[in-house]
Amino acid sequence: MNGIYERLGVRRRINAAGTLTRLGGSLMDDAVLDAMRDAARSSVDIAELQSAASRIIASATGAQAGLVTSGASAALTLAAAACIAGLDIARMARLPDTRGLPAKILMARTHRNAYDHALRLAGAEIVDIGHNDRGTGAGIRGLEAWEIDAAIDGQAIALAFSATPETAGDLPAVAATARARGLKVIVDAAAQLPPVSNLRAFVAAGADLVVFSGGKAIGGPQGTGILAGARDLIASALLQQLDMDVAPARWAAPDFVDRAKVPVPPHHGIGRGFKVGKEDIAGLIVALERFAARDEAQAAATTRKRLEAIGAALPGRTTRIVQGRATTLEIDVADGPAAAAKLLAGESPIHVGERDLAKGTMIVDLQAVRPESDAILIDGLKRALA
Ligand SMILES: *Cc1c(COP(=O)(O)O)cnc(C)c1O
Repeated sequence: MNGIYERLGVRRRINAAGTLTRLGGSLMDDAVLDAMRDAARSSVDIAELQSAASRIIASATGAQAGLVTSGASAALTLAAAACIAGLDIARMARLPDTRGLPAKILMARTHRNAYDHALRLAGAEIVDIGHNDRGTGAGIRGLEAWEIDAAIDGQAIALAFSATPETAGDLPAVAATARARGLKVIVDAAAQLPPVSNLRAFVAAGADLVVFSGGKAIGGPQGTGILAGARDLIASALLQQLDMDVAPARWAAPDFVDRAKVPVPPHHGIGRGFKVGKEDIAGLIVALERFAARDEAQAAATTRKRLEAIGAALPGRTTRIVQGRATTLEIDVADGPAAAAKLLAGESPIHVGERDLAKGTMIVDLQAVRPESDAILIDGLKRALA
């Protein structure tokens, strides 16, 4: 191949580790690229384009509104900013300075992770609640309603919830309790797709705001994400993201912004550095429509066939297909780290899932592998595992 990466001297990699951000996330299909190419060739009003995106995100998620962000991490920052400022443009102008403003976000200890930084970036202070009995094996109790109550002090504005297959079942009760106490519920579901049904599940379970990554399973541009949720919160998030260098008399606000509540345009907000271009908005929207309409059983069956062929090409190896949120192949290996190093040493470096490598299991995830790359992947695996 003789393309941009060859000209730059950057190696093309086979990423069988999933839609990892540091390896470029998802790969886009032609329909998405065509939309981006079309979008790149005309000028548009970004607020009008985000209004259209909002309608499509709303219909895919069941939320009242939504916006395209520059990734799920940026969406978390905007979610926190929306909960702190609401539609008060003086508060928007102050962020990230939250001195004197209610800006505490409650989080179960067991949900804390490296993306918490995104919430703090808006000026929020994270307050740990609950115990980690399940995580440490000390006990069986999860977050309880009284633990949320005990943390409410007039400064708490929201509760942040990290969705995983293990935590998702707790969300309806946690959300009901938090909302009854006047807290907004922010759900980080960045990597909780597939299944497609999760596009709607967290809104249905009571979230005020839900975050998805556009560059993972949805298959949109790598630098995109989605924030979906309640209309006024999404309006706040969008106003804090958009370029606001506009004469107040000619301000055409996104159509779901309630102008009675925002008569004057705010200045550039805390999200101005999270600009999303027209090409990215168009690409994400087309990718979302395609993802939402996908026949999951069919997609899983196709993936399973490809994985079976990979397993069959490794005779003598114990392999098994695992149907988790994605369909993957697990390969038992005696020395996982050594095999992974061999895979990376080839001319087309091959990355595999390393979560259980130390336990002797290599994971092959095809979400970011094109079918035409399967042969190179099989060759590499054969050589590394010989
Ligand atoms: C990937 C991920 C993010 C960040 O998503 P980006 O779209 O890369 O910004 C946030 N939270 C979780 C749990 C993730 O897995």
